[in-house]
Amino acid sequence: MSVLVYIENTEGLLKKSAFEAASYARDLAAQLGTTAVALSIGNVSSDTLQKLSNYGIPKVVRVDTTNLATFVNQAYASIIATVAKSEQAHIVVLSNTFSGKAVAPRVAVKLEAALATGVLELPSVSGDSFDVKRAVFSNKAIASVSLQAATKVLSINPNTYPATEQVVDVTIEDYTPDLPVSDFSTTIKEIVRASDKISLPEAEIVVSAGRGLKGPENWPMIEELAAVLGAATACSKPVSDTGWRPHAEHVGQTGITISPNLYIAIGISGAIQHLAGVSASKTIVVINKDPEAPFFKVADYGIVGDAFVVVPQLIEALKTYKMTS
Ligand SMILES: Cc1cc2nc3c(=O)[nH]c(=O)nc-3n(C[C@H](O)[C@H](O)[C@H](O)COP(=O)(O)OP(=O)(O)OC[C@H]3O[C@@H](n4cnc5c(N)ncnc54)[C@H](O)[C@@H]3O)c2cc1C
Repeated sequence: MSVLVYIENTEGLLKKSAFEAASYARDLAAQLGTTAVALSIGNVSSDTLQKLSNYGIPKVVRVDTTNLATFVNQAYASIIATVAKSEQAHIVVLSNTFSGKAVAPRVAVKLEAALATGVLELPSVSGDSFDVKRAVFSNKAIASVSLQAATKVLSINPNTYPATEQVVDVTIEDYTPDLPVSDFSTTIKEIVRASDKISLPEAEIVVSAGRGLKGPENWPMIEELAAVLGAATACSKPVSDTGWRPHAEHVGQTGITISPNLYIAIGISGAIQHLAGVSASKTIVVINKDPEAPFFKVADYGIVGDAFVVVPQLIEALKTYKMTS
């Protein structure tokens, strides 16, 4: 028995969420007295995969054929299920990312496995019972679920389980699967990037602004603050609805759900629908001129003040700090 972790790549590179999934699989394998095996699909160099050795992964199975260069739902699910069987993995770990969300249920069906998505921490295992905590209702609640099937598929919420180093030797084995044509019934023809900016779902720091900014002409200061911090930008729903910002930045119940280490909310009231998408952030900083704004109730740090005064001062202070530190 082993724990198989599917390691996602983006254009051949491994993101933080991949190392988090690897760390989770390694620690889960240790908890169960077994080892973790990683699976990489697509064109990823050996040098890049070697990095998994820093996260306690002793073996990587690499599937790299031209028809798998871009993400193909059914085919990726078939490969993960096939490798899980050949590695005798009774647990499959994935990241709960865009592609992880698409693939995890398919893998669970193929393996007749129990599925838990949005997993937050290592399971509690005792005898035959295997219980995990998962985020539900847009992160507003945590469900404790008991997985009954012999095989389990777990998708881990990004920014939830820390990527911690543990150095081991790693071997990389290439494997060429025999996939049916039906696995390629839907393929990606072209990928057009919305922007070259830091990806919002993956960002560790997010600078977000709302209707308090008055209009799109005032966003340069938000972008400048984000640039100084190396952050992604986000916004509230009305801001994207009115076309001040692209819909890709809309966070909340009807937008993207994020869980960065730091979320800075500027001129956002903190309506429950907005909080649904951001309340899992590790640290929340709120800047709002209204001391009664509901966002302050969930803030770790709050600044009561006019954004047009506070944000430029914050940018200057951060620039000075960066120059002197
Ligand atoms: C079904 C449904 C789904 C929804 N989904 C979402 C969602 O996914 N995401 C989302 O964001 N919303 C969502 N909403 C809308 C949500 O209810 C709120 O209306 C919205 O979040 C408010 O956006 P806001 O905070 O930017 O604007 P406002 O509520 O207008 O708040 C603006 C804030 O800016 C502050 N402010 C004003 N001027 C300044 C200044 N100069 N300096 C500092 N602060 C200032 C004000 O004090 C105020 O708190 C949804 C609503 C419904 C009904």
